[in-house]
Amino acid sequence: MTKPSKIAIVGGGPAGMAAALELSKTHEVHLFEKGKTLGRKFLVAGKGGFNLTNSISGADLFSKYQPEGIFKEALLNFDSSATRLWLEELGIPTFIGSSGRVFPEKGIKPIAVLNALKNRMLALGTNLYFEHECVDFSANTLCLKHKDKTKEFHFDYCVFALGGASWSVTGSTGNWLSMFKNKGIATLPFQASNCGLEIESIQNSLESFRGTPLKNIAIRCSDKHVKGEAIICSYGLEGNAIYPISNEVRKQLDVYGTAHIRIDLKPFQTETQLLSKITPSTLPKNYAYIFNLNKTQIALIKTFTDKKTYLNPTLFVGALKSLPIKVDSLRPIEEAISTVGGIDCKALNTDFNLKKFPNIYIAGEMFDWDAPTGGFLLQGCFSTAMHITSSLLSKL
Ligand SMILES: Cc1cc2nc3c(=O)[nH]c(=O)nc-3n(C[C@H](O)[C@H](O)[C@H](O)COP(=O)(O)OP(=O)(O)OC[C@H]3O[C@@H](n4cnc5c(N)ncnc54)[C@H](O)[C@@H]3O)c2cc1C
Repeated sequence: MTKPSKIAIVGGGPAGMAAALELSKTHEVHLFEKGKTLGRKFLVAGKGGFNLTNSISGADLFSKYQPEGIFKEALLNFDSSATRLWLEELGIPTFIGSSGRVFPEKGIKPIAVLNALKNRMLALGTNLYFEHECVDFSANTLCLKHKDKTKEFHFDYCVFALGGASWSVTGSTGNWLSMFKNKGIATLPFQASNCGLEIESIQNSLESFRGTPLKNIAIRCSDKHVKGEAIICSYGLEGNAIYPISNEVRKQLDVYGTAHIRIDLKPFQTETQLLSKITPSTLPKNYAYIFNLNKTQIALIKTFTDKKTYLNPTLFVGALKSLPIKVDSLRPIEEAISTVGGIDCKALNTDFNLKKFPNIYIAGEMFDWDAPTGGFLLQGCFSTAMHITSSLLSKL
């Protein structure tokens, strides 16, 4: 039996693969990837934490995504438990680890997850094309560069899933932006998200502490508050408590040129509890013992306080609870775990199709949304792909 509609998917990352797999169940699907293999950034994610999703659900899950409410419908349609069931059905059982992060069961390597997706696509008859770069498109035609030749491909519906603009070695270069911009589709420049913070004072004064973690701290930027760990590095700070605040830092940098964060080095003790440890004989040389501070914490406080604050125990406690740090910039886009920017949300309908080309959909990281690490990025990619799939199937 011939399948009714011809669907083109462009981009072989998790968003493109999920859309291709689901749509191939009922339709003729052609997936075009410019690289020689699928899912290269997915494999990079696999080398790190490889959080496939996060177990939190409902309003808690919706609130992880910016702009506010953007994925509510998509997540109601396909949330983190649906992702786990979907993966299970593909032969990838998962488990919930610390802070709700979801991982493949022990022993299942990232390449096995990728192969499960690829093999299912092949079994369903997805037509896969490698080294096919989309260089232009119209309402029903893709213009694809393959080796030195350019060819056309006609489609009824198309899903673009071209990724963001970090880790360009994986194919996510973002150089497709002008292709959309030239057609009058609103785009935004790419910016880094989930990335390290460049802090000149750390670059200049904490050389001997590079690589040292600041464990069990809390960091605040505007009203965002994150607990975790930060690592002192050559350019400033990185780590799991830093990445989630990078979006607030970016907003301050955009407006003021610099940003400010505050570190609480003792989040499990109140200021009153810490002040109660001070006696009339408390001297700065005893701070480490009295407040249980290591050399890195002392060095950090010295770097970011003036002499008067450091020498006064009461003011010192204030700094311990809320150490002000000026951030000069974010790390370059290339190094970021994710990016914001790309297709402007205002160019899209709620089904993630383009207002200007309603039969063309946009999935995954290539449009302007943001989420923290911890499985929320891949969940966003899967949810957009599944939402598009449902929308397309209801039309076909
Ligand atoms: C170091 C690192 C660790 C990460 N860890 C996690 C994690 O643990 N959990 C999590 O949720 N997320 C993680 N992420 C983020 C996650 O990997 C991405 O959000 C996700 O891969 C984005 O998927 P995508 O399908 O939108 O785009 P991509 O994965 O970027 O795929 C886009 C594809 O489109 C192709 N393409 C681009 N332009 C064209 C064109 N013109 N024609 C044809 N093909 C084209 C590219 O070659 C690429 O294969 C991590 C990212 C990094 C860098």
